Amino acid sequence: MDVVVFLGAPGSGKGTQAKRLADSHGYTHLSTGDMLRAAIREETTLGKKAKGFLDRGELVPDDVMIGLIEDRFGALPKASRVLLDGFPRTMPQAEVLDEKPTTEVGLAVHFKLDPEALVVRLTGRRTCKQCGEPFHVKFLPPKKAGICDKCGGELVQRSDDTESVVRTRIAVFQKQNQSLLDYYKGRKILRDIDADRPVDVIRKDLAALLSSWFK
Ligand code: AMP
Repeated sequence: MDVVVFLGAPGSGKGTQAKRLADSHGYTHLSTGDMLRAAIREETTLGKKAKGFLDRGELVPDDVMIGLIEDRFGALPKASRVLLDGFPRTMPQAEVLDEKPTTEVGLAVHFKLDPEALVVRLTGRRTCKQCGEPFHVKFLPPKKAGICDKCGGELVQRSDDTESVVRTRIAVFQKQNQSLLDYYKGRKILRDIDADRPVDVIRKDLAALLSSWFK
């Protein structure tokens, strides 16, 4: 299975881009954040374990995350082309991914953005309750306030996109990120994307980059 890892701060646009490219190019988008939020909504055992960590903006422990991602990969067809969004977040997670014989991480895309911009980006995010389509009150507004352009569903704010939780999430990210960047740089598969540009401009660059890796 060919895998592209999306690295970058919360709010850098990884999820938005992954979702769109999955829709337009038939890639499989795996977002560990989305998986955890679904588990919390459904009140599964995983959801109960994870809820406190998400509410505080902290990382869910590695053993839980590694089990989750292994289950997901196990259920995918071998020929899948996967965009992995939100995983790995730590070095043990990155190492497990490379040890798996069934997955090949051939590209790591780093969504580069000034940390100052993150708070505004995160606190302005809205997501469709029905289909998960992402919006932003300032940078990617829906045609009609509070309503999804795609399916007409209600737009809601994630509970961890409030300012105090956002600040914790950014601090957690900054602590872990450099080791991950160094790791993929060492493997010579790291590519930077300037994430401080309009969504469609970034999407074009990314589409070209991905098509050079996914055959
Ligand atoms: P995200 O939607 O990627 O911003 O993730 C939301 C939250 O889910 C994070 O703040 C963490 O609490 C948790 N989470 C998502 N992915 C991971 C991961 N790979 N390792 C640990 N925690 C994660």
